[in-house]
Amino acid sequence: MQPKQIYTFGTYLHERFREKVFKVPVSVSGFTCPNIDGTVARGGCTFCENDSFSPSLGTTQPLKGFHLNLESTENPFLEKQLEQLEKQFEVLVSKFRREYGATKFIVYFQSFTNTYAPFETLKALYDKALSFEDVVGLSIGTRSDSITDETLEYLAELSKTKEIWVEYGIQSVYDETLERINRGHDSANVEHWIKKSKQAGLKVCGHLIFGLPGETRDMMLETAKKAYEWGIDSVKYHPLYVVKRTALANEYARGEFTPITEEAYIDTLVEAITMKPESVSVQRITAGIDDDSLLAPQWCRDRNTQVRHINAALKKVGLKY
Ligand code: SF4
Repeated sequence: MQPKQIYTFGTYLHERFREKVFKVPVSVSGFTCPNIDGTVARGGCTFCENDSFSPSLGTTQPLKGFHLNLESTENPFLEKQLEQLEKQFEVLVSKFRREYGATKFIVYFQSFTNTYAPFETLKALYDKALSFEDVVGLSIGTRSDSITDETLEYLAELSKTKEIWVEYGIQSVYDETLERINRGHDSANVEHWIKKSKQAGLKVCGHLIFGLPGETRDMMLETAKKAYEWGIDSVKYHPLYVVKRTALANEYARGEFTPITEEAYIDTLVEAITMKPESVSVQRITAGIDDDSLLAPQWCRDRNTQVRHINAALKKVGLKY
């Protein structure tokens, strides 16, 4: 019997728009994270490399030393941010059009916390992104402690005519784990904002990390179960890996953190996928980084091999990615 294809985000978008929709990642300079700027914590999540937290802008220069937060009363660089957004979008979209014949796009605000800025700034950026030719929607990566009612209401309004997704980092539903990784918010906060976003009519993607310090397989699966129960529409699964210049790298060097093995990750992932409601689309089944910054585990270096191994395990339960 042929393995059954897992319901992916690509399939969801294809069904919805009747053609392939491309996610266009952008990094607007000036955004940071309340877990880095000291609002809720300093240093960020223990696995986050945030030494220099002006995101790389690829073709455009970062606005050095300039960072917004929810209390910012003015933004003298808004025009520059809008220019950056447009330039980044144009570069990627012309590549997607040229190489893949792409004709529909979702602008993905990916780096840092993309609702952590004054409402007027967010509105201007979201409106600008939606004004680009062939853009059908937005996907906004953020933290549940960094979104306001005002922003949520505006996104809900936009969602009446556009495809609007909010991506929340759930990571774990265990507060002791969230404390240990210096997450800066608890699980109740994530649950609250996911449910609120859903009630507002938004689509929600949840990020889950398997292999967090101190977590057992049962804990990881409980996180997946809760995330599904909270009503997420889409999911990204990640293994935790250690990169240089992070607090986690220090824990790893001291022998206080042991990365998850590939076998354990795949075993947990397959179970999490098996438990998943059919309607929850899958956006990512693993993650890794193939450069000098990766300390461990080495199996996180090669994504193609990971996906091959995951598919071999999925096949045993009649599924494929
Ligand atoms: S919430 Fe994201 S950007 Fe902020 S510290 Fe954690 S991983 Fe880094």
